[in-house]
Amino acid sequence: MIKLASREGGEMLVARKNQEEVSRIKVRGCIIGGEQLAVVAGPCAVESEEILKETAFKVRGCGAAFLRGGAYKPRTSPYSFQGLGEEGLKILARVGEDMNMPVITELMDSEDIELVAEYTDIIQIGARNMHNFALLRKLGKVDKPVVLKRGLAATIEEWLLAAEYILTGGNNQVILCERGIRSAEPWTRNTLDLSAVALVKELSHLPVLVDPSHATGVRSLVTPMAKAAIAAGADGIMVEVHPHPEKALSDGEQSLTPKGFSQLMRAIEPVARAVGRGVR
Ligand code: PEP
Ligand code: MN
Repeated sequence: MIKLASREGGEMLVARKNQEEVSRIKVRGCIIGGEQLAVVAGPCAVESEEILKETAFKVRGCGAAFLRGGAYKPRTSPYSFQGLGEEGLKILARVGEDMNMPVITELMDSEDIELVAEYTDIIQIGARNMHNFALLRKLGKVDKPVVLKRGLAATIEEWLLAAEYILTGGNNQVILCERGIRSAEPWTRNTLDLSAVALVKELSHLPVLVDPSHATGVRSLVTPMAKAAIAAGADGIMVEVHPHPEKALSDGEQSLTPKGFSQLMRAIEPVARAVGRGVR
């Protein structure tokens, strides 16, 4: 038996035993954790206002409710594009406003917490920071929803405990995001762990998103894994989309074109219906 016990021996705050119904997180009229699936789409990084606008316009037209785009990018190499920083945040906020889409962007450094919170509707904590407990504690004091991605090699328990850090600080607006974990498999970027999605849905009341883009690293696998994620019970998906993936400054190989994203949206609809969810 899996037990999510707190220090006092009671259930952890994230535990479903504490709260039977799924937590609904509402941002500017859009809900994560409701009957309708939450679809987050956008480029890996904010590259320019023009590219972001074009992407937002197209993904919104296909039914995405939320716009993503990184202004601070956690790149493996310090020589790779690191993101536009504050300028990227401003672009993202402007485009989100113009398109009437709530925006999601990654916070990497606690020094930027106020700045990022000023411009974004939802703060993303990336896989590489899931274990940054000092940062998680600070997010407990922020009045913004947080998307907490699973660490590169984190167990399900470690992931839930990371969420618990934010909840114990007083912020219960946490959304989990499965984005694949490291395995011995070299032909995909990560290995998408859908059993984690089903198990976390059993154990916790927190909504769960799946990111099939980082989970696979391969454009052709994004739609099949999005369908599988929804069948497994995910509350939504986060997908990278770029109008010209071959020119993208990061993660082009896993980014869908707007046309590919439109095909994804059509492909997930019957799956969503089969599990009693709507897409729009
Ligand atoms: C991202 O969403 O752009 C990202 C860097 O994801 P992850 O932290 O899952 O690698
Ligand atoms: Mn990316």
